[in-house]
Amino acid sequence: CGIVGIIGKEEVSQRLFDGLKRLEYRGYDSAGICTLGEEGFARRRAEGKLANLREVLEGDPLPGTLGIAHTRWATHGAPNVPNAHPHIAGNVALVVNGIIENFKPLRDELIADGREFLSETDSEVVAHLVDREIEKGASPQDAVAAILSRLHGAFAIAFLFHDHPDRMIGARRGAPLTVGCGEGENYLGSDAIALAPLTQKIAYLEDGDWVVVTRDDFQIYDADNQPVSREVVESGASA
Ligand code: GLU
Repeated sequence: CGIVGIIGKEEVSQRLFDGLKRLEYRGYDSAGICTLGEEGFARRRAEGKLANLREVLEGDPLPGTLGIAHTRWATHGAPNVPNAHPHIAGNVALVVNGIIENFKPLRDELIADGREFLSETDSEVVAHLVDREIEKGASPQDAVAAILSRLHGAFAIAFLFHDHPDRMIGARRGAPLTVGCGEGENYLGSDAIALAPLTQKIAYLEDGDWVVVTRDDFQIYDADNQPVSREVVESGASA
């Protein structure tokens, strides 16, 4: 339901949590954060209110200067911890808002290919599709570009890549996603309100766009995988 991503200079866990707090108004039933640090992916998830996630984080902090966070409003699969996002498949971690309508045939295809599923969500198929491309040797960009056209539905997604701690990727189709511009760091957010304490400089992705975000830059591509530029505007959202 709500997405925040930060690729930064300093630790991101607390700031991701603060971003989720600002997305609470959208409603949710569970939440989670995944960071990428020295020792790879680290993830904390909790059912119910963000206070529960805070408790988990306090007992077991998350290291890393790069991470994605999610508030989930379950559409497929009960609101429990295994179904909470982020989901991880091999080299790929992701959070998804919205619905992947054709997840069943994709899931069957992936299971036939030896892939093991750990949740009942529609979202986990996307992590496996991208990871499968990466396993075949694709770059994160090529992997995402190759699989987006296979997804039906209305959604926004944020990805991390285990072997590429210098980037995150966002994609939007039918659900909002924005890029925020900082100083030596950049952000992804469902809306400008989530990012307002971090930056007021926002590029709104257009429908079908996806974006590669690094610490110093970002590049947006359209639905035909052609590089495009979208204006960076002052969001005016109050911090
Ligand atoms: N369809 C996904 C799920 O049920 C994401 C729902 C949402 O937008 O939070 O896990």
